[in-house]
Parts: sequence; structure tokens; C-alpha cells
Amino acid sequence: MTFEAVLAQARAEGRTLLNEVEAKQLLRDAGVPVTNTTLATSRAEAQAQAEAAGYPVVLKVVSPDIAHKSDAGGVKLNLKSQDEVGAAYDAILESCLKHVPGAKITGVAVQHMAPQGTEVIVGMTTDPQFGPVMMFGLGGIMVEVLKDVSFRLVPLEEKDATQMIDEIKGRPILAGVRGQPAADIGALKTAILKVAEFVEKHPEVKELDLNPVFAYPDGAIAVDARIVVAEA
Ligand code: ADP
Ligand code: MG
Repeated sequence: MTFEAVLAQARAEGRTLLNEVEAKQLLRDAGVPVTNTTLATSRAEAQAQAEAAGYPVVLKVVSPDIAHKSDAGGVKLNLKSQDEVGAAYDAILESCLKHVPGAKITGVAVQHMAPQGTEVIVGMTTDPQFGPVMMFGLGGIMVEVLKDVSFRLVPLEEKDATQMIDEIKGRPILAGVRGQPAADIGALKTAILKVAEFVEKHPEVKELDLNPVFAYPDGAIAVDARIVVAEA
């Protein structure tokens, strides 16, 4: 689906939040590395898609009423068989409906479980005065507690992406510390620049989060994606 088609469908449903499957498809088409993710609308479909994705897989709730999927019990990691996928499907629906009574559940996203990497965040927010602003930081507690992030106004040049990465206090972590592997800085730069290009091309995008992106010694991949578009 094109950006315009996804946008039209979201607006027809009165949504400003693009779901993970939609967001990842658009970002992949824009050259941003993301995990291949499909939408299952039944238990059997989730099991078939898990076989196709290759074990281990991850199942996640897809719901316009649930933004933080883990908080609602909507994420199940490291599933290794059809039985585990089936049980996880049931558990996700039960837990999400308990957490958010009456939530509309679109389905469950199925994807291969990516190997653990260094977690970073690539995002965009819209400043009322300056417009789209890109954000980069280390994931997990580094962003939540320490607010160790850097910002740049869109459009970005290559040197902006380099500086964004170099400016964070946790920069040495990306170089590899205490036996931790280094992160592929070139791949992170490319991801930042591709996301910036994407939001520049689509002014309807008001917020975008890749949280987390797993950075590896060779390459990087976003395992979660969220896009918020402007109201019609
Ligand atoms: P949310 O942020 O809405 O709670 P996420 O999609 O970020 O949900 O999933 C929660 C966590 O699960 C992530 O931070 C990541 O550590 C892990 N995770 C999610 N998807 C994958 C995946 N495809 N491969 C490996 N780990 C994943
Ligand atoms: Mg996330």
C-alpha cells in the first residue's frame, strides 16, 4: 500500500495512529530496515504466519486503543512452536481486554524475533514553531530516565546524522565497552537519514518512533514502529 492509501484508510476509520504493520511497511518501502511484520486476524492465521516468519517469533497486539503494547500484556517474545504461538495469541487477547476494557483489537502482528542488539531510538516529533525535529538516543533507561537524546531540525544532511550520534553522552557505549559489541554507526546514520527523508516527503506525519532499533556490529533493524499522522 502507498502512503496515501494507508493514510486514507486510517482517516476513514477515524484514527491518527498508524499501527505497527502499516508503519513498518511504509518505512521499509522508504528504505528503513524493519522486521518483516504481518497482521493475523485469527489464531490459525497467526500460526501460519509464524511458520512463514521462522521461529523464534514475536506476537504483538494491534489495536488503535493500545499505544504501549507491553504495558497491556500485548507482547509475547521468543515463541518457538505453533502451540506456543496459539497460546500467546489467546493470552494477548485476554490480557489486553482486561487492561483496556472494550478495546478494539485489529489483530495480532507476527514477526521473526531479532537477535538482541544495542537498543537505540530513532524518532521524530513536530515542534509547533520549527516543524519536524529528528531525535536519536540510546534505548531503555537511557532515554526514559536519563533523557540522553540529541535533536536536529529536518531536513538533515549527512553530517547532522553523524553529529546526532556523536552528541549523546552514551556515545562510548556505541563504540563497544566492557565486552559489549560495537554498533554499526554507518547503519544508524542511514536509518536516521532515511527516516528524515520519509517525514520530509510526508508532512502529514506528526510523530514517528522506532523504539527500539537493534544496532549490531554489522547493520541495524527496527523491531517496533509507531507513526502518528495529522487529523484530516
Ligand atoms: P511496546 O513499545 O509497544 O511496548 P515493542 O514492540 O517495543 O512494544 O516490544 C517490547 C520489547 O520487546 C522491545 O523493546 C524489544 O525489546 C522486544 N521486541 C519487540 N519486537 C521484537 C522482535 N521482533 N525481535 C526481538 N525483540 C523484540
Ligand atoms: Mg516499543
